[in-house]
Amino acid sequence: MNFEDIKTVQKLLSQPQKIVIVPHKNPDGDAIGSTLGLCHFLNSLGQSAAVVAPNDFPKFLKWIPGSEGVINFEKQNIQAKEKLNEASLIFTLDFNHLGRAGQMEPLLKTLDVPFIMIDHHQSPEDYAAVMYSDVTMSSTCEMVYNFIMSLDGGQAITADIANCLYTGIMTDTGSFKYASTTAKTHQIVADLIEKGADNTKIHTQVFDTNAPSRLHILGCALKNMVILDAYATAYITLSQEELNQYDYKKGDTEGIVNYGLTLEGINFAVIFIENKEEGIIKISFRSSGDFSVNEFARTYFEGGGHKNAAGGKSDFSMEETITRFLDYVKATRKPLVKNV
Ligand code: 5GP
Ligand code: MN
Repeated sequence: MNFEDIKTVQKLLSQPQKIVIVPHKNPDGDAIGSTLGLCHFLNSLGQSAAVVAPNDFPKFLKWIPGSEGVINFEKQNIQAKEKLNEASLIFTLDFNHLGRAGQMEPLLKTLDVPFIMIDHHQSPEDYAAVMYSDVTMSSTCEMVYNFIMSLDGGQAITADIANCLYTGIMTDTGSFKYASTTAKTHQIVADLIEKGADNTKIHTQVFDTNAPSRLHILGCALKNMVILDAYATAYITLSQEELNQYDYKKGDTEGIVNYGLTLEGINFAVIFIENKEEGIIKISFRSSGDFSVNEFARTYFEGGGHKNAAGGKSDFSMEETITRFLDYVKATRKPLVKNV
């Protein structure tokens, strides 16, 4: 954050504010960790802050300190609208297009109060009075840590805040493995552990609390995986029928896309998940190295994200979506062997 923005934030926070903090739709570890970490911090300053999420978040994040207080716009609509209409200041975290707030978008657009964006995705929309946007950051949680440091030097970082922020950094870096993980990321994480983040417990809560349904769906996904050796690409499909068969619960498909990248020689992995209720195929893209899945998702599947992790959707059937995808793969990726 630059000096000017810090001054603006300090001025806003020198008055008592009614603050609403918003994560993106289908919040992940970074979205929930960053919004709750910031919420604890703002409340410790004597502000009145609450998190309003567009919809529910997975069970493996429900232990995060303060998660029981997150207001779900979909399920607690009246309470959520009341909070938003009363707000004098809005933070949007881990996204940079209001469309990513899902059903909350129309209401957010009517609010005539300052917005503060904290986010690490590419191509931010211009809706915020203060825009702390940095695509080099590993996670929004790392940015919330920096935000708190700029305002109070980190004295206010309690064990609760440390646990929230550690969670998001860990999940968004693939447990400190992705290229966005820097020496500074590790220094921050070390400081968070010193301030009370229980690193082993967090890992166990996030990764070792699988429901049987998740492992059954994982088994089905891996069986369905198609490997396009010539294009260093692997993709997985999961139909609604398969999800129903294995008793799908929210969060069960989280992270499955990454298995494609564990194959030797594969640097582009995709998962297509049918959602009959919304009438779409939700798609996740992952890559390692130079291939920008952000660009791929943006160009062909109405999506976006980061260079190595992005998402999008298709309104076509699974079969038609895959046919189109294969065309796009052939158009954008150089075959590794001749005559394919
Ligand atoms: P995931 O595949 O885990 O859902 O998302 C990976 C990344 O892509 C995240 O950073 C997420 O914010 C972004 N992303 C996922 N879905 C969409 C989408 O529909 N639109 C945009 N713009 N970004 C998305
Ligand atoms: Mn993130």
